[in-house]
Amino acid sequence: MTTLEIRDLHVSVGTTQILNGITLTIKSGEVHAVMGPNGAGKSTLSAAIMGKPGYTVTSGSILLDGKDVLAMPTWKRAVAGLHLVMQYPTEVPGVKLSEVLSEALTARNSSLPNLNKTINEEATRISFDTELVNRAVNVDFSGGEKKRNETLQLAVLKPKIAILDELDSGLDIDALRDCAKRVEDATNEDQLGALVITHYSRLFEELKPDFVHILAKGRIVKSGGPELADELERDGYAAYAEVAK
Ligand code: ADP
Ligand code: MG
Repeated sequence: MTTLEIRDLHVSVGTTQILNGITLTIKSGEVHAVMGPNGAGKSTLSAAIMGKPGYTVTSGSILLDGKDVLAMPTWKRAVAGLHLVMQYPTEVPGVKLSEVLSEALTARNSSLPNLNKTINEEATRISFDTELVNRAVNVDFSGGEKKRNETLQLAVLKPKIAILDELDSGLDIDALRDCAKRVEDATNEDQLGALVITHYSRLFEELKPDFVHILAKGRIVKSGGPELADELERDGYAAYAEVAK
């Protein structure tokens, strides 16, 4: 059982405070959705958890099984079991997926006896063209291909806690279904814990949230069960934007 505990997290970019005290605990097998309007601070939360340069934690803590995540460089956070699926996946010219994954496994003191076979099996599982696996990571991929590629990395590396920053942005319905289903399977098969950032509840058709949190103006203004996502779909965010003022 793994626990990611975010306590009273305050984050600034430059002189601007973006997150004003986020408290959230995610355990193995749980899916926590974080929903909120543009500019609420959702990507800032994911950046702070992974240690993206430029995002300064001014107070609060992030603990992974009691270990101080904020004291670790990004690569150690990944080795410790945190994994970010980026809103806008990075293109990496000249580097193949198998090389990325093999290095990542080595950093974990791990290896897969037949990595290429595993990659191909996982690619097939999410309908990702196995030809693309042999090209440079994400270079000239479509939006859907990039997110399938990111999901494949998650499936092979089997992190303890995954942060999905708008998995649903830039992909078509088929890709969304395949990627969301794969993550849902990981929460059941490998007890993956997931922090799922999104605007839209359509992602939840395949990836079922246990908890839904509404983030507005850098604060969690309401938490509830899946019914909260339905309420947002119906009524929008306007009511919560007021609460956060
Ligand atoms: P969301 O993902 O919820 O749409 P973000 O976390 O990306 O929101 O952004 C929250 C606020 O922080 C926005 O006002 C955005 O302009 C600001 N912000 C985020 N990252 C940066 C950055 N690197 N430099 C300047 N402002 C930033
Ligand atoms: Mg964002």
